[in-house]
Amino acid sequence: MLRAMTEINVKQGIRRVLQQIEEAKLRRSEELRGSDVVLVAVSKIKPVELIIEAYDEGQRHFGENYVQELYDKATNALIQEKCKDIKWHFIGHLQSNKVNKVLAVPNLHLIETVDSRKRATQLNKNWPNFGGPDSKLNIMLQVNTSGEDVKNGIEPSEVNGLAEFVLKECQNLRLQGLMTIGQYGYDPAQGPNPDFLSLRKCRDDLCKALNINWKDVGLSMGMSTDFEHAIELGSTSVRVGSSIFGERPKKN
Ligand SMILES: *Cc1c(COP(=O)(O)O)cnc(C)c1O
Repeated sequence: MLRAMTEINVKQGIRRVLQQIEEAKLRRSEELRGSDVVLVAVSKIKPVELIIEAYDEGQRHFGENYVQELYDKATNALIQEKCKDIKWHFIGHLQSNKVNKVLAVPNLHLIETVDSRKRATQLNKNWPNFGGPDSKLNIMLQVNTSGEDVKNGIEPSEVNGLAEFVLKECQNLRLQGLMTIGQYGYDPAQGPNPDFLSLRKCRDDLCKALNINWKDVGLSMGMSTDFEHAIELGSTSVRVGSSIFGERPKKN
């Protein structure tokens, strides 16, 4: 009903965004050109029917930012039947009392928003109760690159310390990269987005400090309004919602 009214064409949305990703990849500088870009379809507030439509189009990575909603969708009977190879990303703020619920999500692929030693420690300690033997939980560190108080995430200056902690003390976690949301409404006509440049610098500094190959540290940055710009600046994972699933109702 709702679908007919709003005329969302999810399959077309996926195809269009993938095309835009390919085009943006070609505009990257030589050194960035080799790395791949993952499209994470952000399905928050959207019904499972639309997720299945995107899945049928070949989309595998999906992002949600509320633990309960993610859990409900991941355990939904239709999703379980039709989307066996789905890869869930948790992209919201993770509270201490929700850790076990998020770890119980079937096909949980990556938690993008680790922002403290405490949370890393908790995830590391509890993951063996959920993952198979020897499996590691993929995580990213969320960095508050814009310095806005309302944003979660660690300061750029804290990245090396937390990364080192995860690498040395958290044997059940696999550090996949850094994630940022960045300032809303930045106009790329003003030049390269400083938040994206900042995240890239965090990555480069981290790799230098801990002697890691930069290609092993992903950058999750870019949303519907700026994912192409983010890719040009080195993003390896873009989180796109409304450009695929249509606008969400505004929060008030
Ligand atoms: C909602 C959300 C997105 C997707 O936003 P769109 O503007 O709809 O593409 C990406 N990242 C995070 C963390 C989000 O909460």
